[in-house]
Amino acid sequence: QAKKQGRNNFQVYDVMLDAKAYEEMQIENELRKALEREEFVLHYQPIVNLCKNEIKGAEALIRWENERVGKVPPDQFIPIAEETGLIIPIGEWVLKTALLQLKDWHENGLENLTMSVNLSIRQFYQPNLLAMIREAIELARIEPCFLTIEITESMTMDVEKASVILRELKKLGVGISIDDFGTGYSSLSYLKRFPIDHLKIDRCFVRDIAENKSDENIATTIILMAHNLGLSVIAEGVETASQLKLLRQHRCNEAQGYHFSRPVPAEEFARIKVSS
Ligand code: C2E
Ligand code: MG
Ligand code: MG
Ligand code: MG
Repeated sequence: QAKKQGRNNFQVYDVMLDAKAYEEMQIENELRKALEREEFVLHYQPIVNLCKNEIKGAEALIRWENERVGKVPPDQFIPIAEETGLIIPIGEWVLKTALLQLKDWHENGLENLTMSVNLSIRQFYQPNLLAMIREAIELARIEPCFLTIEITESMTMDVEKASVILRELKKLGVGISIDDFGTGYSSLSYLKRFPIDHLKIDRCFVRDIAENKSDENIATTIILMAHNLGLSVIAEGVETASQLKLLRQHRCNEAQGYHFSRPVPAEEFARIKVSS
């Protein structure tokens, strides 16, 4: 009886292990070895100040290329890194690498550049987050104000816990951005309660801003609200001059997107020229 059941279970499992699950398993296996094999690199995308028309900062975006699974985009492997806990060492590598790069740029003519680094939810609630960030800052010997941490709305669902962590980050002196703003489910009241510096308007609201009046209204409203709360606004996914023109008209502070540059390897970053 037991043997029969065992076989049945195996069959069920076998069916469930379809192509997608198999691929994810392979990704997970390869991901476990990726750090020591040095398969990750960071690319950097400029964040442009729209008043001065100059690059104000860089966002670090992780890239992974593996012999077996090829190039896997972060939207695909970050969730797996989250589930397995691998995001903790990977996230630490990202922060240290990005800040050492920033130090190098500070010493080579880009004195006031800031660095934005994405955190995932598991990192955010990791008990030694603060210690890890402090260590990375000290290692790179930069001022904390040049680092901006990007979190998403969904990470602030536990309002009490999140506000404790954010206050500690603020005390440390780093900047805080809410990424993908407008796509999460959290209540707006947190904007008042949390010590946030920037809102990043998700690119889904930017995409049709020049063609679609209601998208324009949403973007305008986000900008006004943010400014009323004393926050600066960064538009994500700006691809065209007409999107940029509208965002400027509505006093959006900063912008990021293919119109200026795709995320590029560090060597290419210093050569980027801002077009208006
Ligand atoms: P995100 O933080 O919202 O990053 C912006 C994403 O939009 C990036 O995708 C970027 O390449 C893309 N993008 C920028 N400008 C444009 C544009 O004009 N048009 C379009 N269509 N896309 C644009 P990417 O690099 O694939 O990253 C996706 C997400 O993966 C990020 O979204 C972030 O949530 C996550 N991620 C990336 N690197 C890290 C990391 O080091 N740690 C963590 N925890 N998450 C990361
Ligand atoms: Mg981001
Ligand atoms: Mg985003
Ligand atoms: Mg995103």
